[in-house]
Amino acid sequence: MLEKCKTKEGLCQCADWKNGTAADWIDHIMRDYKFDRLLLDYHDLEKDFEIRLCQIGGCNKCGGQICIGTVLRPSELLDDTLARIYDEASKRWRWYREDEGFDEVFVQLFRGRDQQVARLWLDLVRAKAAALVPGEEDAHAEEGQIL
Ligand SMILES: [Zn+2]
Ligand SMILES: [Zn+2]
Repeated sequence: MLEKCKTKEGLCQCADWKNGTAADWIDHIMRDYKFDRLLLDYHDLEKDFEIRLCQIGGCNKCGGQICIGTVLRPSELLDDTLARIYDEASKRWRWYREDEGFDEVFVQLFRGRDQQVARLWLDLVRAKAAALVPGEEDAHAEEGQIL
């Protein structure tokens, strides 16, 4: 669960995360895990590198960190990779938080120029979704409009 995750500092000491059984972790997480934030650890979105989505939280008992993140594989198309990250991150976010404001959380997962890429992708997804709403097409179908 924690292998290769960079979140090693101040790790929770209550369970044996390396050699313990999953049953021990699950029990501990159910009781004492408090979600804090999502973090995206990646090298390059467009190449064949692992993308690690960290779901970092704190332990109620010892105050240490617990990450129950996952690894995502990039797709051939950047759009698909972004969709995959969005799906996984929003699902995890919604386990703990309200839906509103997630789009901004999503954008902030990325670094530098990738934030603009993520924002453009979101705009495109929203525009496509709006175009599919029945009855809305006529109102928006002005000449010269692309979407
Ligand atoms: Zn602990
Ligand atoms: Zn992690």
